[in-house]
Amino acid sequence: MSAELRLKKLRGSGGYVMATVNDQQQMKGNLGGPDLFLAPIGRLDSQKITKYFCNTCEKEFEGTPKIEYENPNEEVAENLVLAEKGQYICNSCNAVIAEYREFKKQNETVGVGVAKPIETTTQSIPSKIIEQIQIKPEISTQPTTEISLIEGLSVYDESARKIGIAKQVGIDSNQLVVLIIIKNDGVEASILWNNIRKVGEVILLGNPTVIPERIQQGKCTSCGFSNKEGSKFCEECGNKIQ
Ligand SMILES: [Zn+2]
Ligand SMILES: [Zn+2]
Repeated sequence: MSAELRLKKLRGSGGYVMATVNDQQQMKGNLGGPDLFLAPIGRLDSQKITKYFCNTCEKEFEGTPKIEYENPNEEVAENLVLAEKGQYICNSCNAVIAEYREFKKQNETVGVGVAKPIETTTQSIPSKIIEQIQIKPEISTQPTTEISLIEGLSVYDESARKIGIAKQVGIDSNQLVVLIIIKNDGVEASILWNNIRKVGEVILLGNPTVIPERIQQGKCTSCGFSNKEGSKFCEECGNKIQ
């Protein structure tokens, strides 16, 4: 084994895989917290995967989950092509262990434009542009390039109601990966990454738990009195504040 390859746990929405990854993949999978994530890494060589854990089966399996993918080369926004989308799937129960999307910019030097409405995504991309993408040599990108491309995607809840626009991926105070969105009313909110069912042309939530950005701190759980932020005891009833 090469010195730069390490066996790592890579988390997905429905479990994790254990795989040997190189430094670049490790950087990609690191979203700032202690864990590494499969989604930003994309498709791994299945020979690199030694085992996986399925949350649905609540069980660890030897070997690799199924990896199914397609290459839609679909233009999802101005200057942004969905190059590949794939899923890691449990061999036993067919649950999705992890999903990933790989986007490519047609022109690396300019930013991504406005996301296109879904209805127009069937329009064909000039074949010339596709060729350019395919022959483009692998450029070593910033570790967060793929993740940063979710910026501006519409976010829909379980009932397919648009609740806002994706802003960025961050880490909350509990060291959990969250998606920060701007809600329809312009207020920022964060959604636990685990609650995201699908990142594609839009972001679809599997569980519409939106955590208010500013949890009311200092609120007494006993009498409901709003104390100053950081208060240890309630001014009203003296109860200890969690
Ligand atoms: Zn399973
Ligand atoms: Zn109180």
